[in-house]
Amino acid sequence: MLKGKIAMVTGAGRGIGKAIALKLADLGASIALNYRTHNEDIDKLAKEIEDKNVKVLLVQGDVSDFNQCSDMIKKVNNELGRIDILVNNAGITKDGLLMRMKEEDFDKVIDINLKGTFNCIKHVTPIMMKQREGRIINLSSVIGLVGNAGQANYAASKAGIIGLTKSVAKEIGSRGVTVNAIAPGFIKTDMTEVLSDKVKASIQDNIPLRRLGEAEDVAELVAFLSSDKAGYITGQVINVDGGMVM
Ligand code: NAP
Repeated sequence: MLKGKIAMVTGAGRGIGKAIALKLADLGASIALNYRTHNEDIDKLAKEIEDKNVKVLLVQGDVSDFNQCSDMIKKVNNELGRIDILVNNAGITKDGLLMRMKEEDFDKVIDINLKGTFNCIKHVTPIMMKQREGRIINLSSVIGLVGNAGQANYAASKAGIIGLTKSVAKEIGSRGVTVNAIAPGFIKTDMTEVLSDKVKASIQDNIPLRRLGEAEDVAELVAFLSSDKAGYITGQVINVDGGMVM
């Protein structure tokens, strides 16, 4: 389905980003893996992807840094020849009630989640517009749609991603580039591992499908949105949440 395509996934070292990278590689895409912190897991992932007979490129960098994003995207384009798919997945949480939230915790979450998404979009769009083809997929969250006590910074960043997605979709649709957002619910990764069993159980009770999501549930939608089959879908926010928000 994606044979010969070149995809870049940010924050690909673990969790949802890793599942996305593996899924796109399974479908035949070569993968640029962005990671921030180097550890042996990223080398293992690169090897696993290489074994699927596609190319893999490691690009280290912090997505919140505008110039590092420029360098990373130049490197991917130079070494892999083009960029067909950009998945803006890198993200963090720094939770706390507004009354106690420090300014730096608000700024950090906005810088990585929202500005990081802008940075990568900004540098990849000239390439995709020249190709007259491209897919940009941004990881938002259901929290960006409905808010959450203790996550004002995160909710603002994820709601911002939705506005960014729709605006850029309107700007570059005529050049053959689609821009969509995915809003996952609660997915089992390091990000949600910090929640107590009691909290997880109460979340699960409020999910119609009665389970937390797997990273692979999100990766399946990324694969579809990356494919030719999704060529007439742009500017959309699609939930992968077991029916939690409807
Ligand atoms: P995760 O397991 O915590 O992984 C986050 C990834 O982002 C890590 O690989 C991390 O790299 C990377 N990252 C963080 N800051 C970065 C930066 N400045 N530059 C480059 N990479 C950076 O999170 P996840 O659950 O897989 O979440 C992935 C995305 O889905 C996030 O955008 C998240 O907000 C969104 N999402 C998740 C859920 C959920 O329930 N899990 C729900 C809705 C939305 P390091 O290893 O170097 O830290």
